[in-house]
Amino acid sequence: MTTPDAVGTSWGRLPEPPAAAFVPFRGVLPEDRPYLPYGAGRSYGDVCLNDGATLVAMTEHHRILEFDQQLGTLVVESGCTIAQVHQTIIPSGWHLPVIPGTQWVTIGGAVANDIHGKNHHRDGSFGCHVLELELLRSDEGVVRCSPTQRSDLFYATIGGMGLTGIITWVKVRLMPIPSAQIQTESIKTSSMAETVDVLLASDEQWLYSVAWVDLATRSGCAGRGHVLVGQHASAEHGLQPPSLRQSYGWLAPVARPFLQPTTVRLGNSIKYHGQRTPVRSSVMDHGAFFHPLDAIRGWNRVYDPKGFVQYQFVIPEEEASEVGKVLSSITTVLHEADLVPYLAVLKRFGSRSSGGVMSFPRPGWTLAMDLPWSGRPMLHALNRLDAMVLERGGRVYLAKDARLETAMFRAMYPQWTRFSELLDPAVSSTMWRRLQLTTKGYQ
Ligand SMILES: Cc1cc2nc3c(=O)[nH]c(=O)nc-3n(C[C@H](O)[C@H](O)[C@H](O)COP(=O)(O)OP(=O)(O)OC[C@H]3O[C@@H](n4cnc5c(N)ncnc54)[C@H](O)[C@@H]3O)c2cc1C
Repeated sequence: MTTPDAVGTSWGRLPEPPAAAFVPFRGVLPEDRPYLPYGAGRSYGDVCLNDGATLVAMTEHHRILEFDQQLGTLVVESGCTIAQVHQTIIPSGWHLPVIPGTQWVTIGGAVANDIHGKNHHRDGSFGCHVLELELLRSDEGVVRCSPTQRSDLFYATIGGMGLTGIITWVKVRLMPIPSAQIQTESIKTSSMAETVDVLLASDEQWLYSVAWVDLATRSGCAGRGHVLVGQHASAEHGLQPPSLRQSYGWLAPVARPFLQPTTVRLGNSIKYHGQRTPVRSSVMDHGAFFHPLDAIRGWNRVYDPKGFVQYQFVIPEEEASEVGKVLSSITTVLHEADLVPYLAVLKRFGSRSSGGVMSFPRPGWTLAMDLPWSGRPMLHALNRLDAMVLERGGRVYLAKDARLETAMFRAMYPQWTRFSELLDPAVSSTMWRRLQLTTKGYQ
């Protein structure tokens, strides 16, 4: 099983695909330095890029080494994708404990960005479920790490953006499921404040929750949307793994000319009013619930030729009414700069922490928005948002970033100095150099 479209770029197609040598991982360290492990390239920014240097392609390193169906544990090579893992484990009633919005992510990439899913409020991020992993480092060779063995490297590697060495395999605790299908409710909300309230109220009851929010509207009700909650359906719905089909490759280029602020506003309005009842219940297919965009091959090309930014931040938990106000003021900045978020998703993070030194999640509210690249005015507006996020004690998700300024990064992630002590001296990335944090020469 191959990973579609893994070509040494990043998902946002920003910055321009840089020149990097692309070498497959064969169990040994590459000679050319600095290098960077590369998973499936599903990060949006430059965290997975290494311009002018070497990318070590991990996706051919993809065997499942051990699947203990009694204990519910899995040992897997790091280049294996979530799609591939699920084809093996779902028919036996097991599921990865945390998955993102696409199944085309490698296990190494999931650890290195300490990804979060729709169940963060209950189960935390991916790193919370990693029992052990193996690293291949240029200075120490093979190192096995866990919460009790080389815990310094273990916690630096979770969310460590590939900079602590090549993860070769990962042991992860799985989640038992009665069915792969999801029992859902979609709750219609009329304002940002109500969306926040409904998310808060539903987190107790539901394993999964997320809100699609309409931030494109100028009607004064920005933040209205649909809160989608779910949990695994009962056993009679079966254990069918999600489809691997990716089709409609023609759709992105055909849709591109129609994707304008006015049509996006109209599309959002149709989607919003398309749900006619306050609450809609259904049983959804696994793929439709978790990875709706995966069905469209290369959907990110809809934003070509310039690419896009997915801006995602988290602000700490506050009174629900305050959160609504903060998110509304962020929307105002976007509107003032004539930026129309084409897609916006709101979610609440819970308090369970993986301990990852550089991990993004923290208890609070996270908003992710797709913004087509529009040059300098956009950078200016996003810098303003950075300042607002920082002022609230929040931070930007590095897996989706290609533009954060160094001073802002240091203020948002003050633990970067501790992290720097554990870097593999032969590894670097475009992001790390952009943030000007490399202090040593490559060895
Ligand atoms: C449609 C879509 C939806 C998404 N939804 C979510 C979401 O809900 N939640 C979320 O958290 N993220 C989400 N993401 C982002 C994505 O989950 C992360 O960026 C993830 O890390 C990508 O994994 P990858 O295998 O593609 O790795 P890449 O993007 O190739 O690399 C990511 C980082 O991992 C490092 N890395 C990769 N393999 C290894 C290895 N073997 N050893 C050491 N380091 C390694 C790389 O050096 C890089 O720093 C989404 C992305 C897309 C495209």
